Amino acid sequence: MIIDQHQRIHSYLRVSLIERCNLRCTYCMPEEGIPLLPKSHIMRNEEIVAIAKEYVDLGVTKIRLTGGEPLMRRGLDNILEGLQDLNVDLGITTNAILLDQHWDLLERTGCTKINVSLDSLIPEKMNALSRRNKFDIIMANILGTIKRGFQVKINVVLLKGTNDDEIVDFIEWGKDLPITVRFIEFMPFSGNKWDWNENGISLKDVLQKAESHFGADNIERVKDAPNDVSKNYRVKGAKGKFAVISTVSNPFCDTCNRIRLTADGKMKNCLFSNSETDILSAFRAGEDIKKVITDGIWRKKAVRAGMDEFEDFSDPSQNQENRSMIRIGG
Ligand code: SAM
Ligand code: SF4
Repeated sequence: MIIDQHQRIHSYLRVSLIERCNLRCTYCMPEEGIPLLPKSHIMRNEEIVAIAKEYVDLGVTKIRLTGGEPLMRRGLDNILEGLQDLNVDLGITTNAILLDQHWDLLERTGCTKINVSLDSLIPEKMNALSRRNKFDIIMANILGTIKRGFQVKINVVLLKGTNDDEIVDFIEWGKDLPITVRFIEFMPFSGNKWDWNENGISLKDVLQKAESHFGADNIERVKDAPNDVSKNYRVKGAKGKFAVISTVSNPFCDTCNRIRLTADGKMKNCLFSNSETDILSAFRAGEDIKKVITDGIWRKKAVRAGMDEFEDFSDPSQNQENRSMIRIGG
């Protein structure tokens, strides 16, 4: 069992497959880009599967692949086939650009839980936010993926003055689709110019906008899944749900069961932790990585890697020494 000093059992592993991406979302990728690590530092396909197996032996039941853009990873078929043999709940987080080319593989290997980032329903705005002109293919692939019967969630990072005017539009858009639209509070990472007063939109703001448009009586709270990071809601009678991931204004650390493994094989016991455990080097040196894993998780802090108070987010030594999000994987 992988347990921390606060008695939280960890059963969910998020693995970043790649640091590269075909978008340049402003809140994720620093404007100047990121220096890419040499290939030898990145986990090989068979190492990913072998390391994942160690986690599964220790009680992990759910694995989500992320990045960078995980669908750009060479050998994704080998990785998914290897992970399929581990009999875990498999999902992927993607920007959807390459989804149509991977539908068969994802179906065949049981990787059916697909989270897609989409920050605006307005093509020009989405293209400006992601610094690339890919809106049309993203939207076509989202709708195609839903039609194929995958379980789809949409991730919308909210930025004040940029896309907060689309909160109601997103809820309306998702209402008739079998999906959940999840609004994510903007989080601070190295190089993303985070300033909560300037560009933060909170859970409270989302609910206010939803209630004033649909009427408070028409918004119902939906029971969250165990260890769910989002608070879920539905407009009465709607097929789709909406949700808020309120890491900044309302953290959910007491039920956290997540472990993150970066593409270069470093384990983060918290998204916000700037200390990492080097799993890949230990694996390559032939060490017993089960002990390295359990020791690294044991040290996990109670709340947001020690940023207990909201004010701690504004301390650059706490939030800017972390990796940029593109090198963690969300
Ligand atoms: N490229 C894939 C994608 O965009 O879905 C996977 C990687 S991306 C880093 C994973 C998730 O992190 C995305 O849903 C993205 O919106 C979210 N994310 C990135 N930077 C963020 C930030 N500063 N605050 C909140 N969420 C962020
Ligand atoms: Fe790429 Fe995803 Fe980051 Fe956007 S959020 S730059 S798509 S990794």
